[in-house]
Amino acid sequence: MKILIIEDEYSLADAIAETLKNENFTVEIETDGEEGENNALTNVYDLILLDVMLHSKNGFEILKELRKEKNQTPIIMLTAKSEIYDKLNGLENGADDYITKPFHMKELVARVKVVLKRKIDIENTDILEYEDLKLDIRTGKMKSQNNEIAINGKELDLLEMLLLNKKQIVNRELLANKIWGYNSEAEYNNVEVYVSFLRKKLKLIKSKVKIKAVRGIGYKMEVEDD
Ligand code: CA
Repeated sequence: MKILIIEDEYSLADAIAETLKNENFTVEIETDGEEGENNALTNVYDLILLDVMLHSKNGFEILKELRKEKNQTPIIMLTAKSEIYDKLNGLENGADDYITKPFHMKELVARVKVVLKRKIDIENTDILEYEDLKLDIRTGKMKSQNNEIAINGKELDLLEMLLLNKKQIVNRELLANKIWGYNSEAEYNNVEVYVSFLRKKLKLIKSKVKIKAVRGIGYKMEVEDD
């Protein structure tokens, strides 16, 4: 599980990172608001810890921007005690939880686990859906309206990853790494080849869903009106 911390207090960010690493999470830190937002938009995280008072961009603006871009990564806001309206503001704008500074690391870990469990429960359903497309991840059956086809292996892994992150751009490096287990430029071709297999199958079952390539970054599922 990969967590992004966007926090400009270095010592706090480090302390949180250390705590989460001890809980076996993979952690990345961004100390600048805008860089943090860019990172959150171009990579896939399981959770984001987001400070409010940041250089260059406020945490609430980042939250709004991510949700506007249909990024549904769970977000826990880190707010100062004086910012009494932050809780409401954050929750209204789509934060999953908030935690008031100063906090105990144990409390933070507990909150992180609750929010992640909620996400995992949602993901653990066998059927993943996007628009007219349904994928049964146990049987590999992909369906659209009355058409059905079965996929397996890497094709299934790839479509599953795209559907789990259906509202965001999925980085091709991440796909290559998670599905094929490698991370070199030469291997990204494989992702492209498998994406083309999936495109053919989507056409075959007459789904409206398209896998759009986002140049230099990765892929995103979309519906094109014809
Ligand atoms: Ca701050």
